[in-house]
Amino acid sequence: MSATRKKLVGVLALQGDFEAHQRALETAGADTLQVRTTEDLDRVDALVIPGGESTTMLKLLVYMDLLEPLRSFAEAKPVFGTCAGAILLATEVTHPSQESLQAIDMTVERNGYGRQIDSRVVMLPFQGGELEAVFIRAPIIRRTGPGVTVLAEYQGTPVLIEQGRHMAATFHPELTGDSRVHALFLSKL
Ligand code: GLN
Repeated sequence: MSATRKKLVGVLALQGDFEAHQRALETAGADTLQVRTTEDLDRVDALVIPGGESTTMLKLLVYMDLLEPLRSFAEAKPVFGTCAGAILLATEVTHPSQESLQAIDMTVERNGYGRQIDSRVVMLPFQGGELEAVFIRAPIIRRTGPGVTVLAEYQGTPVLIEQGRHMAATFHPELTGDSRVHALFLSKL
Protein backbone atom coordinates (compact mmCIF):
# COMPACT_ATOMS: atom_id res chain seq x y z
CA MET A 1 0.00 0.00 0.00
CA SER A 2 1.43 3.38 -0.94
CA ALA A 3 1.46 6.11 1.71
CA THR A 4 0.36 8.87 -0.65
CA ARG A 5 -2.55 8.24 -2.95
CA LYS A 6 -2.47 10.01 -6.28
CA LYS A 7 -5.10 12.74 -6.53
CA LEU A 8 -8.27 11.70 -8.32
CA VAL A 9 -9.33 14.40 -10.76
CA GLY A 10 -12.76 14.21 -12.37
CA VAL A 11 -13.41 15.30 -15.92
CA LEU A 12 -17.01 16.26 -16.66
CA ALA A 13 -17.90 13.79 -19.42
CA LEU A 14 -21.32 14.88 -20.66
CA GLN A 15 -20.06 16.38 -23.91
CA GLY A 16 -16.85 17.74 -25.43
CA ASP A 17 -13.21 16.67 -25.48
CA PHE A 18 -12.95 15.10 -22.03
CA GLU A 19 -10.64 12.23 -23.06
CA ALA A 20 -7.87 14.61 -24.12
CA HIS A 21 -8.06 16.22 -20.66
CA GLN A 22 -7.78 12.81 -19.03
CA ARG A 23 -4.58 12.11 -20.99
CA ALA A 24 -3.08 15.51 -20.07
CA LEU A 25 -3.97 15.08 -16.37
CA GLU A 26 -2.51 11.58 -16.29
CA THR A 27 0.70 12.85 -17.92
CA ALA A 28 0.84 15.55 -15.22
CA GLY A 29 0.59 12.85 -12.51
CA ALA A 30 -3.09 12.45 -11.53
CA ASP A 31 -5.58 9.61 -11.71
CA THR A 32 -8.78 10.58 -13.53
CA LEU A 33 -12.46 9.70 -13.49
CA GLN A 34 -15.14 10.54 -16.05
CA VAL A 35 -17.86 12.38 -14.10
CA ARG A 36 -21.51 11.93 -15.14
CA THR A 37 -23.35 11.63 -11.79
CA THR A 38 -23.31 13.14 -8.29
CA GLU A 39 -21.82 9.85 -7.06
CA ASP A 40 -18.87 10.37 -9.42
CA LEU A 41 -18.56 13.97 -8.21
CA ASP A 42 -18.45 12.83 -4.58
CA ARG A 43 -15.37 10.71 -5.33
CA VAL A 44 -13.08 13.31 -6.91
CA ASP A 45 -10.66 15.84 -5.40
CA ALA A 46 -11.02 18.34 -8.24
CA LEU A 47 -12.86 18.71 -11.52
CA VAL A 48 -12.07 19.76 -15.09
CA ILE A 49 -14.92 21.09 -17.24
CA PRO A 50 -13.82 20.62 -20.85
CA GLY A 51 -14.46 22.58 -24.02
CA GLY A 52 -17.45 21.76 -26.16
CA GLU A 53 -20.66 23.74 -26.44
CA SER A 54 -21.63 25.52 -23.24
CA THR A 55 -25.35 25.70 -24.09
CA THR A 56 -25.48 21.95 -24.72
CA MET A 57 -23.52 21.26 -21.55
CA LEU A 58 -25.88 23.48 -19.55
CA LYS A 59 -28.91 21.60 -20.87
CA LEU A 60 -27.30 18.26 -20.02
CA LEU A 61 -26.32 19.50 -16.54
CA VAL A 62 -29.94 20.46 -15.85
CA TYR A 63 -31.25 17.19 -17.34
CA MET A 64 -28.81 15.12 -15.25
CA ASP A 65 -29.54 17.12 -12.04
CA LEU A 66 -25.89 18.14 -11.84
CA LEU A 67 -26.08 21.95 -11.90
CA GLU A 68 -26.61 22.50 -8.16
CA PRO A 69 -24.18 19.70 -7.12
CA LEU A 70 -21.54 21.32 -9.35
CA ARG A 71 -22.15 24.74 -7.74
CA SER A 72 -21.64 23.19 -4.29
CA PHE A 73 -18.57 21.29 -5.48
CA ALA A 74 -16.97 24.54 -6.71
CA GLU A 75 -17.54 26.11 -3.27
CA ALA A 76 -15.27 23.47 -1.72
CA LYS A 77 -12.90 22.06 -4.33
CA PRO A 78 -10.79 23.19 -7.30
CA VAL A 79 -12.42 23.41 -10.73
CA PHE A 80 -10.62 24.12 -14.02
CA GLY A 81 -12.80 25.18 -16.95
CA THR A 82 -11.48 25.32 -20.50
CA CYS A 83 -13.28 27.21 -23.26
CA ALA A 84 -16.95 26.18 -22.84
CA GLY A 85 -15.93 25.12 -19.31
CA ALA A 86 -14.60 28.65 -18.65
CA ILE A 87 -17.95 30.04 -19.84
CA LEU A 88 -19.76 27.78 -17.37
CA LEU A 89 -17.57 28.99 -14.46
CA ALA A 90 -18.02 32.73 -15.06
CA THR A 91 -20.20 34.99 -12.93
CA GLU A 92 -21.46 36.70 -16.11
CA VAL A 93 -21.86 35.43 -19.67
CA THR A 94 -22.69 37.65 -22.67
CA HIS A 95 -23.55 37.19 -26.40
CA PRO A 96 -26.04 35.96 -25.36
CA SER A 97 -26.36 35.93 -21.60
CA GLN A 98 -26.86 32.46 -20.08
CA GLU A 99 -26.92 30.68 -16.74
CA SER A 100 -23.59 29.69 -15.18
CA LEU A 101 -21.98 28.23 -12.06
CA GLN A 102 -20.87 31.66 -10.68
CA ALA A 103 -17.51 30.29 -9.52
CA ILE A 104 -15.06 32.84 -11.01
CA ASP A 105 -15.59 36.60 -10.86
CA MET A 106 -15.35 37.40 -14.58
CA THR A 107 -17.45 38.43 -17.57
CA VAL A 108 -17.03 36.17 -20.58
CA GLU A 109 -18.22 36.95 -24.11
CA ARG A 110 -19.09 33.80 -26.04
CA ASN A 111 -17.52 33.30 -29.49
CA GLY A 112 -15.61 36.54 -28.94
CA TYR A 113 -13.20 36.01 -31.85
CA GLY A 114 -15.95 35.36 -34.40
CA ARG A 115 -17.15 32.26 -36.22
CA GLN A 116 -15.64 28.79 -36.71
CA ILE A 117 -13.17 30.08 -39.32
CA ASP A 118 -11.68 32.31 -36.67
CA SER A 119 -10.15 29.47 -34.69
CA ARG A 120 -6.35 29.66 -34.44
CA VAL A 121 -3.13 28.35 -32.90
CA VAL A 122 -0.75 30.90 -31.36
CA MET A 123 2.32 31.01 -29.12
CA LEU A 124 1.87 32.88 -25.83
CA PRO A 125 4.39 34.05 -23.23
CA PHE A 126 4.00 31.74 -20.19
CA GLN A 127 6.15 30.99 -17.14
CA GLY A 128 9.19 32.70 -18.65
CA GLY A 129 8.88 30.66 -21.86
CA GLU A 130 6.24 30.02 -24.50
CA LEU A 131 2.98 28.11 -24.56
CA GLU A 132 1.13 26.82 -27.62
CA ALA A 133 -2.52 27.83 -27.37
CA VAL A 134 -5.30 26.39 -29.55
CA PHE A 135 -8.39 28.61 -29.76
CA ILE A 136 -11.61 27.05 -31.12
CA ARG A 137 -14.65 29.35 -31.29
CA ALA A 138 -13.20 30.75 -28.10
CA PRO A 139 -14.80 33.15 -25.66
CA ILE A 140 -13.07 36.40 -24.63
CA ILE A 141 -12.69 37.32 -20.97
CA ARG A 142 -13.89 40.94 -20.97
CA ARG A 143 -13.71 41.66 -17.21
CA THR A 144 -11.98 40.06 -14.23
CA GLY A 145 -12.71 40.77 -10.58
CA PRO A 146 -10.08 41.83 -8.00
CA GLY A 147 -9.54 38.23 -6.83
CA VAL A 148 -8.49 37.04 -10.29
CA THR A 149 -4.82 36.65 -11.34
CA VAL A 150 -3.99 36.66 -15.04
CA LEU A 151 -1.51 33.88 -15.95
CA ALA A 152 -1.41 34.37 -19.73
CA GLU A 153 -2.75 36.94 -22.20
CA TYR A 154 -3.39 37.11 -25.93
CA GLN A 155 -3.99 40.38 -27.80
CA GLY A 156 -4.29 42.25 -24.51
CA THR A 157 -7.02 40.12 -22.92
CA PRO A 158 -6.63 37.34 -20.33
CA VAL A 159 -6.74 33.78 -21.71
CA LEU A 160 -5.54 31.84 -18.64
CA ILE A 161 -6.56 32.99 -15.18
CA GLU A 162 -6.84 31.76 -11.61
CA GLN A 163 -9.03 32.76 -8.70
CA GLY A 164 -8.12 31.00 -5.50
CA ARG A 165 -8.49 27.28 -6.11
CA HIS A 166 -10.06 27.68 -9.55
CA MET A 167 -8.58 28.13 -13.02
CA ALA A 168 -10.02 28.97 -16.42
CA ALA A 169 -8.56 28.97 -19.93
CA THR A 170 -10.26 30.25 -23.07
CA PHE A 171 -8.01 27.98 -25.20
CA HIS A 172 -7.53 24.18 -25.20
CA PRO A 173 -4.41 23.18 -23.19
CA GLU A 174 -5.41 19.51 -23.56
CA LEU A 175 -4.80 19.56 -27.33
CA THR A 176 -1.01 20.02 -27.26
CA GLY A 177 1.59 17.64 -25.85
CA ASP A 178 2.42 20.18 -23.14
CA SER A 179 0.90 19.34 -19.74
CA ARG A 180 2.27 22.38 -17.80
CA VAL A 181 -1.15 24.03 -17.50
CA HIS A 182 -2.67 20.83 -16.11
CA ALA A 183 0.32 20.47 -13.76
CA LEU A 184 -0.38 23.99 -12.49
CA PHE A 185 -3.97 22.98 -11.75
CA LEU A 186 -2.80 19.86 -9.90
CA SER A 187 -0.56 22.07 -7.74
CA LYS A 188 -3.79 23.54 -6.26
CA LEU A 189 -4.97 20.22 -4.85
N1 GLN B 1 -18.22 28.46 -28.57
C1 GLN B 1 -18.41 27.48 -27.54
C2 GLN B 1 -19.47 27.96 -26.53
O1 GLN B 1 -19.92 29.03 -26.59
C3 GLN B 1 -17.11 27.14 -26.83
C4 GLN B 1 -16.15 26.52 -27.81
C5 GLN B 1 -15.20 25.54 -27.19
O2 GLN B 1 -15.36 25.08 -26.07
N2 GLN B 1 -14.19 25.19 -27.97
O3 GLN B 1 -19.84 27.22 -25.67
